[in-house]
Amino acid sequence: MAGIYLHIPFCKQACHYCDFHFSTSLKLKEAVLAAMHQEIRLQQNYLSGETIDTIYFGGGTPSILSVAELQGLLDTIHLVFPINPAAEITVEANPDDLTPEKLLLLSQSPVNRLSIGVQSFHNPHLQLMNRPHTAGEAEGCIQLAQELGFDNISLDLIYGIPAEDEALWEQDLAKAFALNVQHLSCYALTIEPNTVLGHRLKKGTFTPAEEESVAQQFELLMTQAKTHGFLHYEISNFCQPGFESKHNSSYWRQTPYVGIGPSAHSFNGKSRQFNVAHNPQYVQALSQGQLPCTVEELTVEDRVNEYVMTTLRTSWGCDTHYIRSKWNVDLVALHASYLQQIIAKGLMQENEGVLLLTEEGKLLADEIALDLFLLKEE
Ligand code: SF4
Repeated sequence: MAGIYLHIPFCKQACHYCDFHFSTSLKLKEAVLAAMHQEIRLQQNYLSGETIDTIYFGGGTPSILSVAELQGLLDTIHLVFPINPAAEITVEANPDDLTPEKLLLLSQSPVNRLSIGVQSFHNPHLQLMNRPHTAGEAEGCIQLAQELGFDNISLDLIYGIPAEDEALWEQDLAKAFALNVQHLSCYALTIEPNTVLGHRLKKGTFTPAEEESVAQQFELLMTQAKTHGFLHYEISNFCQPGFESKHNSSYWRQTPYVGIGPSAHSFNGKSRQFNVAHNPQYVQALSQGQLPCTVEELTVEDRVNEYVMTTLRTSWGCDTHYIRSKWNVDLVALHASYLQQIIAKGLMQENEGVLLLTEEGKLLADEIALDLFLLKEE
């Protein structure tokens, strides 16, 4: 089992909260795509011949590409890697790109899952975040995608947007569930330093939502998801039964994957590779036949910490027997008194060696994972 992630590093405009790698100039688009084809060929042996079960176009904005350009990348992948005929193939898309013509072509392509960046169904919030679409466009493209036969659609939504009546988040959720999509990824608005909102925060012209209000919105999300029969299978991810994102789940299950494109990461079980997050440097390296990446060999501490951080966020939990058998580390013994405390506080449950966060614990997932990390000297 293995996956391929393709990072398309272009966007129409910069969302005010986003610090991902992207360029709003399309000048290098052809050159970057040519380099990505080359990188796919150079990475032929990275996954040691494993069959590819998931392919994920992320970004940036993959839907900025034509369907022919997406198909071209898939064609090269097929020439280089063995692909499971039932592979999950996801394209992240912004509503303004999903015109009826493009959706029709996508529905006739091998793409079988759409992840649509809706973020909010409230136009003033979309404007605050500088999103390139309206709520109406989002709703329209979701309905059209469904009419064209897409039966595995995920929506990205953002909560914790400030200066709002909390009923707006409730309305966003009601709209999302009414649209009868299969999957939701919901993230709290975080203010990163090198973004427009980050600069406004520094200048004192932007006030983020109160922590308590953000926590209440997350609680509302968990309650509403349960009411609508959605599984909360990862802290930020909810789905109808059977519609977990196979690609993202494989990250959380430590499955190897290769990342193609500027800023993409790869993982082969022993090391991580990080591609340069700079389009011209990426193009130049590949034009000289070189992979534009740095490699980090992972220590036992890195592997255990990563396993704890990712699995604690999931509904299958952190299996301490697995940690012991794979890395010879007894996490329970190392953190016995801390585990007792958080279990007594109702933040965690332990079931035959598997650690699972309770709903209350999910609000503190990252802090709890950090407390369970192995320090280098352990
Ligand atoms: S949120 Fe998505 S569309 Fe907006 S700038 Fe970031 S990568 Fe581009």
